[in-house]
Amino acid sequence: MLQKNIFALLVLVLLASCSATKRIQVKTVEKTIRDTVYIKEISKVEDRVYQAAVLKNYNVNADSLPSIGQDYRVKFLILHYTALDYPTSMRVLTKQAVSSHYLINDKNDKEIDILVSEDARAWHAGVSFWSGRTNLNDSSIGIEIVNQGSTEYDGKKYFFAYPDYQIKKVAALAKNIIERYEIAPDYVLGHSDVAPQRKNDPGPLFPWEKLYRDYQIGAWYEEYDKQFYEAQFLPELLNDSIFIKTVQEDFARYGYEIEANGEWTKKSKRVVSAFQMHFRPANYDGVLDRETWAILKALIKKYKTKI
Ligand SMILES: [Zn+2]
Repeated sequence: MLQKNIFALLVLVLLASCSATKRIQVKTVEKTIRDTVYIKEISKVEDRVYQAAVLKNYNVNADSLPSIGQDYRVKFLILHYTALDYPTSMRVLTKQAVSSHYLINDKNDKEIDILVSEDARAWHAGVSFWSGRTNLNDSSIGIEIVNQGSTEYDGKKYFFAYPDYQIKKVAALAKNIIERYEIAPDYVLGHSDVAPQRKNDPGPLFPWEKLYRDYQIGAWYEEYDKQFYEAQFLPELLNDSIFIKTVQEDFARYGYEIEANGEWTKKSKRVVSAFQMHFRPANYDGVLDRETWAILKALIKKYKTKI
């Protein structure tokens, strides 16, 4: 009888929307690896929406939901600028073969647009790569921010600043997404990080450091680590191919797609420039220098070193 009631309830809920919420208790599982006991909490979320098949002649039973062996399909949060005004951004992202999950307008209001449901794939990253993963549309949420991008004047590129009220919107939305999908700090990225050969967005004026300091969003290095590595830097190695190869390997270790060939090729320099736009925006000329190297080492120490 009880099962029948649950079934009837499920059918009622699922028929309407094909998704439902279930109260999920926090469960823990212990795993022993090399004498160390790891305890993993499988869920901190009490009410989680789940999706399930609705079948006419069979009961899809949710009593055992959720299994311990699971994680989120969404691993990355990727930020963009549209390089268009708001109405044009909206038209392009809804009526053409590009899209994003969210669009942040450039007005000082309380509005944020969702264009693609989070459980669907938006087409924002294109050919992309991070930490061995490709085609990041499959595994990311994309946020497009209305910003004019860049303009050229006297042969020099100038980028447009982001107003503070717009960054507040980005921060509120990003924080919410990062918490719900447990996205790692070093998986919060710009389009230029995951497609450095093709893309500049969200550009060197996007305030990554502010997002980290004021909202604990994304990755940033520790100043004392940077200073430590700056003191280790040997400028005479800058043109040494073995040193260049190890630096390229470090960029790859942090996540970038780069060939470790011991030469500062055009492609390698674009990776350095993308990294600088994110972590050392005062100068993003794509030339490796003491500070850029020290920041890279400090980030690897913080995010890529297993203790
Ligand atoms: Zn983009």
